Amino acid sequence: MTLIERDQRHIWHPYQPFGSVPPIPISSAHASLLVTEDGREIIDAISSWWVSIHGHAHPRITQAINTQLAKMHHVIFAGFTHEPAIQLAENLLSKLPSNQSKIFYSDNGSTAVEVALKICLQYWANIGFPRTAVIALEDGYHGDTFGAMSASGQGVFTKPFRDLLFDVAYLPSPLGDGGRTLEALEVHLKKETAACVILEPLVQGAGGMRIYSPRTLRSIIILCKQYHVPCIVDEVMTGFGRTGTFFASDQINEYSDCAAKSEEQCSPDLFCLSKGLTGGTLPMGVTSCSEEIYQSFASTEAHKTLFHGHSFTANVLACAAANASFAILSETSTWTNIGRISSSHQLFADSIKAHPKVKNIRQLGTLVAFDVVTSGASSYANPVKHTIQAVCLERGVFLRPLGEVVYILPPYCITNAELQRVYQAILAALDEI
Ligand SMILES: *Cc1c(COP(=O)(O)O)cnc(C)c1O
Repeated sequence: MTLIERDQRHIWHPYQPFGSVPPIPISSAHASLLVTEDGREIIDAISSWWVSIHGHAHPRITQAINTQLAKMHHVIFAGFTHEPAIQLAENLLSKLPSNQSKIFYSDNGSTAVEVALKICLQYWANIGFPRTAVIALEDGYHGDTFGAMSASGQGVFTKPFRDLLFDVAYLPSPLGDGGRTLEALEVHLKKETAACVILEPLVQGAGGMRIYSPRTLRSIIILCKQYHVPCIVDEVMTGFGRTGTFFASDQINEYSDCAAKSEEQCSPDLFCLSKGLTGGTLPMGVTSCSEEIYQSFASTEAHKTLFHGHSFTANVLACAAANASFAILSETSTWTNIGRISSSHQLFADSIKAHPKVKNIRQLGTLVAFDVVTSGASSYANPVKHTIQAVCLERGVFLRPLGEVVYILPPYCITNAELQRVYQAILAALDEI
């Protein structure tokens, strides 16, 4: 039996509708390339679901994991600690805004979001003013667990569970000038029932790579501050250089009137991190929060404890990988690459913006995205994605459009020649539709 036959007998793959083309067996991967079982090389132009920021099998991350592997694989994190987790917390806090004070570890982006939501809900209970309303953006995506699904925009992903998801007030899209979003937010905040606001800063990822302005983001955060409602920024996709700055929310500081306020007055209260955190090697999630939020749990009353923890919390191998990834991110050459990809994307965007099958071309840092002009409805299910994916694959390029939204989110080590191959593959795919 072939690998594909054995796979198809027993394995249930994520996000693969029945009847999808069979999966491709991959035997190794390095830098931007995936190597198939039969020796073909494919450019991973979306960093394997956005995680492999430094490319596959980065030797320094491999080495850090190997070194750690010889010492300890894992230890329960309740009642024990270890240097890699402490170092990672220090590393992250050195880049997060100065109001961030505590790091809570979990396993993935969805759990990072669950933890943030639970912290905010319990914060209000702990201070004696219970509140349960969650405010989120239309078309957001925060993960596939129940709390994360509730906070996400509602659509085909969440429909079968609709009746079991908690109520969330959705703000209209922050695209454009964001005026409607801010008005709606203020209406909700005035009710004094909101426990938190959760959003993806600057880019709504899985919801269609929708980019909105740092100005709108900053206004949302400042409004939350005025009403004293914690604002969670879900940087699971946008963190670690993706948008051209270390965190996407760093870009709000470019506004002078924000700089005039103290950083505390414009900084989000909680951050969710995952995807790029370990450089695409091991699963890990992080939720950080401000000292003020943490203080509501700092009590000897047992019921004020955060009763949340996963078996693999702060896995030491994942911490070692994340510290190595952090070191690579601290190097100038990484930021040179991010800038190089950004400029290259800009040129590509300019070159195809007048293409009759392309609309809404947008670019931020290492992300470039556009909508394909199709007769089909604008949705994740738009079948145009299959044609584009297939034509690109023929040409040795892996893309995974979100319906009619085509995007590139490459590893930072992608070469200029590889980028050109990705662009050419997209042009060829556009010719086929
Ligand atoms: C991917 C993603 C998540 C979920 O992360 P998983 O690791 O897939 O559970 C949450 N939020 C955002 C913004 C994401 O892009």
